[in-house]
Amino acid sequence: KAKELSGNQFQFYSSDIDNRSIETIKLENDLYKALNEENSFMLHYQPKMNLETNEMIGMEALIRWDHPDLGLVPPQTFIPLAEETGLITRLGEWVLKEACKQMNQWYMKGYKDWTVSVNLSPQQFNQNNLVNVVMRVLNETHLPAENLELELTENLIIHNTCKTTTTIKKLKNLGIKISIDDFGTGYSSLGYLKNFPVDTLKIDKSFIDDITTNKNNAAITDTIITLANSLKLDVIAEGVETQDQIDFLQGRGCYLIQGFFFSRPLPPGQLIEEFAKKHSKKGLKK
Ligand code: C2E
Ligand code: MG
Ligand code: MG
Ligand code: MG
Repeated sequence: KAKELSGNQFQFYSSDIDNRSIETIKLENDLYKALNEENSFMLHYQPKMNLETNEMIGMEALIRWDHPDLGLVPPQTFIPLAEETGLITRLGEWVLKEACKQMNQWYMKGYKDWTVSVNLSPQQFNQNNLVNVVMRVLNETHLPAENLELELTENLIIHNTCKTTTTIKKLKNLGIKISIDDFGTGYSSLGYLKNFPVDTLKIDKSFIDDITTNKNNAAITDTIITLANSLKLDVIAEGVETQDQIDFLQGRGCYLIQGFFFSRPLPPGQLIEEFAKKHSKKGLKK
């Protein structure tokens, strides 16, 4: 219906608020349509590196929407809309299946020790049949559960802790890895870490950005690394862009790195051709 409105748009564009809501409604409509079309969405993959071995350990799948008029719409624009409208369940399942299918192809080519990470939104995590969906997708794509990691956020974990614990334990029992994304930015207490069987803390980019100049962010990063070490969890830094940041992190014992310093998120073909061939010992670990 947004198209019909566009002839009278001067009436609606009289305030910023109305302007935004009409654009939002149109975008929601487009999102709904895009879900029923092929090739509207795609996944890019950003490598995760281990500085100790100088090898790729896997990659994060990040969704891209190729909008017919607007071009590439960033996930931070449409993921919240997908959450508000409930479309996130279908969209999230598409992401999960696409990422597992792709990872299984890489697995078959010999990249057997990579893990693909998939972001789960709170609504997707809280859907009742999440564990069944994950099991079905692993079955359909033939990907071993050990090669899948789910990235959850802290804010998801503070709600409904009992059900959340049960769900995470069931996922872990399948063999899947769990990481806490954007760690340090949520409102949760740290207590949950002892109850949830998580594998990895992912230090948020906002701390990494000025890690070498801002004492507070350096201290927070230090604390997260120490916390991870004492709880025997892995720790990875995201949004790493410079050698100085690498030096800082390596000096503090954080060896897992994701960020533009190594690579931007890439389409799957490019990930292999332009990055993985230089940064993995494919075939040696069969
Ligand atoms: P995130 O999960 O924290 O993902 C990391 C974001 O930081 C990605 O943005 C990535 O491109 C960006 N990034 C990584 N390294 C650097 C760097 O060195 N410099 C800079 N400037 N940026 C860097 P992207 O792809 O735009 O995704 C943004 C957010 O959208 C994600 O944050 C995640 O919360 C959400 N998202 C993306 N894909 C999905 C998805 O499939 N499902 C769900 N539920 N959320 C998703
Ligand atoms: Mg993430
Ligand atoms: Mg993150
Ligand atoms: Mg982030």
